[in-house]
Amino acid sequence: MPFSNSHNLLKMKYSGKEEFPDLSQHNNHMAKVLTLEMYSKLRDKQTSSGFTLDDVIQTGIDNPGHPFIMTVGCVAGDEESYVVFKDLFDPVIRDRHGGYKPTDKHKTDLNHENLQGGDDLDSNYVLSSRVRTGRSICGFCLPPHCSRGERRAIEKLSEEALGSLDGEFTGKYYALKNMTDQEQQNLIDDHFLFDKPVSPLLLASGMARDWPDGRGIWHNDNKTFLVWVNEEDHLRVISMQKGGNMKEVFTRFCTGLTKIENVFKNNGRAFMWNEHLGYILTCPSNLGTGLRAGVHVKLPNLSKHEKFGEILKKLRLQKRGTGGVDTAAVGGIFDISNADRLGFSEVELVQMVVDGVKLLIEMEKRLEKRQAIDDLIPAQKLYFQFFTFPTEYLSLEYTHNFPEVSQRPASFFKNDVQI
Ligand code: ADP
Ligand code: MG
Repeated sequence: MPFSNSHNLLKMKYSGKEEFPDLSQHNNHMAKVLTLEMYSKLRDKQTSSGFTLDDVIQTGIDNPGHPFIMTVGCVAGDEESYVVFKDLFDPVIRDRHGGYKPTDKHKTDLNHENLQGGDDLDSNYVLSSRVRTGRSICGFCLPPHCSRGERRAIEKLSEEALGSLDGEFTGKYYALKNMTDQEQQNLIDDHFLFDKPVSPLLLASGMARDWPDGRGIWHNDNKTFLVWVNEEDHLRVISMQKGGNMKEVFTRFCTGLTKIENVFKNNGRAFMWNEHLGYILTCPSNLGTGLRAGVHVKLPNLSKHEKFGEILKKLRLQKRGTGGVDTAAVGGIFDISNADRLGFSEVELVQMVVDGVKLLIEMEKRLEKRQAIDDLIPAQKLYFQFFTFPTEYLSLEYTHNFPEVSQRPASFFKNDVQI
């Protein structure tokens, strides 16, 4: 797997057609929208930091598909990438984010008091609850493109900012290069730390360059509030704990995140944000809220049900294995989280997870007793405004135009790198 480098100036001696990637076996959003005409128009453009179209799309070329999720197949190298390569990013964003248009405005709501319930997910089924987001610091390139100096400066700024938090948020920064292999592995196994740079998505986008230089994790003393530094985003902010109290997790998430944002602001460092895209992150799939609220939940019966995939889709949820995005589920335990990030507020997304997971557990309990679940399955994909648990599921209406994404069977990717 290449570590990504397409800075070859001689390539302009060849025509757009001669340079156009072979996308014939591909199933990701970039591959579906990139045309020869678009490629030829954009290939000689670059952002002020020097990020090119070939850098944007390399990860989607080298990763034709993913066995478990529909990937976007492109990344931003800096804030300006979303402007200079708008012709490509806009349709990718539209397809990934339920028809989100270039004129749409994103909403942010980090007031945890607006979440209804969420402190009562059945902990016989829900093993742990987690909410994460990413944040990018203005003035630096993003991980696919940042230099060693930039990366180290981000690490230094983050360590200083996080070091000033107090109370429940008192914690310490641990640089990856100062950890023993065993310490690092323990943090990974306990689901606190990002994986080693083994993901082909990460490698092909160039985000793993210079590993482990500049990477690390900060966490509070209880390990319930954590910040990853310089993995896929400058910062990944995480609140998590065992059991099913998503309300508590989300409350800590909002409080801690607001504190961090204020410390950075007071140090003259804003986070990348605009009205249209919300918080700007490396992967277009994370734009908007960047929020993934998820639970590790036991669904051994429901996950074998023929309609499991359809049910998740209708509830606007996504499944992963419990070892992270590149892993398959083991023993009927899944990471179930919101599929959307953009166009819905933080509160709305967490609400979807809370209400949706409650319904999934209800279904699991029925199946344990060998009872049918048909009356619990929503008739159509949910639009948030109509989303109330559980009686109104059947009267839902589409209010957005959601393009169907064709998922190829996992066997299609049998030659793809599996971890
Ligand atoms: P992210 O979207 O945060 O990048 P990944 O799928 O890459 O998530 O997983 C990162 C790590 O977080 C993995 O170790 C995974 O097991 C852990 N994780 C994700 N969700 C939960 C959860 N609900 N409870 C405990 N650990 C979790
Ligand atoms: Mg990840």
